[in-house]
Amino acid sequence: LSSRLTETLAKLRTKGRLSASDVDGTVREIRRALLEADVSLDVVKDFTANVRERALGEEVSKALNPAQQVVQIVNDELVRILGQDQRRIEFAKQPPTVIMLAGLQGAGKTTLAGKLAKWLAGEGHTPLLVAADLQRPNAVNQLQVVGERAGAVVYAPEPGNGVGDPVKVAKAGVKLAQQRQHDVVIIDTAGRLGVDAELMKQAANIRKAVNPDEVLFVIDSMIGQDAVATAKAFQEGVDFTGVVLTKLDGDARGGAALSIRGVTGKPIMFASTGEGLDEFEPFHPDRMASRILDLGDILTLIEQAQKAFDEDEARASAEALMNDTYSLEDFLKQLQQMRKASNMKSLLSMFPGQSKQMKEAVENFDEAQLVRYEAIIQSMTPVERRQSKILNGSRRLRIAKGAGVTVTEINQFMKQFDGAAKQMRTMAKGGMPNMPGMAPMPGMH
Ligand code: GDP
Ligand code: MG
Repeated sequence: LSSRLTETLAKLRTKGRLSASDVDGTVREIRRALLEADVSLDVVKDFTANVRERALGEEVSKALNPAQQVVQIVNDELVRILGQDQRRIEFAKQPPTVIMLAGLQGAGKTTLAGKLAKWLAGEGHTPLLVAADLQRPNAVNQLQVVGERAGAVVYAPEPGNGVGDPVKVAKAGVKLAQQRQHDVVIIDTAGRLGVDAELMKQAANIRKAVNPDEVLFVIDSMIGQDAVATAKAFQEGVDFTGVVLTKLDGDARGGAALSIRGVTGKPIMFASTGEGLDEFEPFHPDRMASRILDLGDILTLIEQAQKAFDEDEARASAEALMNDTYSLEDFLKQLQQMRKASNMKSLLSMFPGQSKQMKEAVENFDEAQLVRYEAIIQSMTPVERRQSKILNGSRRLRIAKGAGVTVTEINQFMKQFDGAAKQMRTMAKGGMPNMPGMAPMPGMH
């Protein structure tokens, strides 16, 4: 691009602060992304209101356009919230450190017990697993299998030995750990498919009896919108000191993380990412933030738009603008560039701060229309393309027939072209920022 134009635009961007219209379009997009990621509506509302407040009036960035800048702010804010009070397991001064697991059935507690045991053993600890899930017939055996794989000792009640009281088992487990010098005890507990009072009471009684150093609430990240109710129920019923999100290897976008963080205020401590005992890691707020936002997609879209602009075409079209000779041929080139950028609708909505006319164009954007426009321009002679003023009634009729459209459509099209040409001229004089598909700027960053 001509250096003069580049400079003009660079100046434009460094000036001033983000405006409401810069921010609102992107915040709307973010709200949609969060809801799609299954973050609860209340949490989404609070979150976007905070972001909006923070973004408004922030200095306009040199490197990013307003939409990208807002996305950046959103990402920072997500990482901040998810990482608030981030901490690791707190070990008791007086061993053993007692860790109790709680959560719905199928959340991944027993699997987590094995993962924790393996991980802790790797750090030089000597964990003991305690089978306090006496609800499901196979639960004790499952923990024994997991324990064996993790190379950890498992304490389980003798079969048939008056089987039944998980509180007693938990207490006996802790006592055994003291005797055998295990420095960590992990207590696996029972879960139900839904939250129920009896389960809560049992878990609360175990907690009371063994006074654990950590109570980890284990929750399946695929649970979606039920995350809030489930987390609240466990907070009231048992209370916990930290959260473990499981099944993050699945499709869930992880909105549960933000919801639970928002609702319970408890730190998310670990992420479970598979059935294997090694598929487990300390929680990373930054990774979770980009997963929730699906930032990858957004950034890819921005990139695509920029790539779609062949640099040469952009330069030629910019030069044409500087000379004030924007023609239908330039318009055609830009239409073709637009088609190259896939998923234009969602892309264009990422770029706020456009004129009302532009916004309407985005709302009404449809690919079929673009194809018709191309046909119209292609039905014109080279002279007509360069000098659109000569397009009188009979020429329009001939073009309409050639392109298979009505004369009314030709007229509408010409109106749009005149509007675009006008905007192009304004922009060439340094009027308006980055608008992919319509402006010659992308590719210049
Ligand atoms: P519990 O009822 O809470 O003890 O849950 P389990 O530990 O028995 O896990 C229930 C099912 O989920 C089992 O089939 C596990 O193998 C599986 N599972 C647990 N954690 C994960 C995970 O992070 N990813 C995947 N894909 N599966 C998991
Ligand atoms: Mg279990």
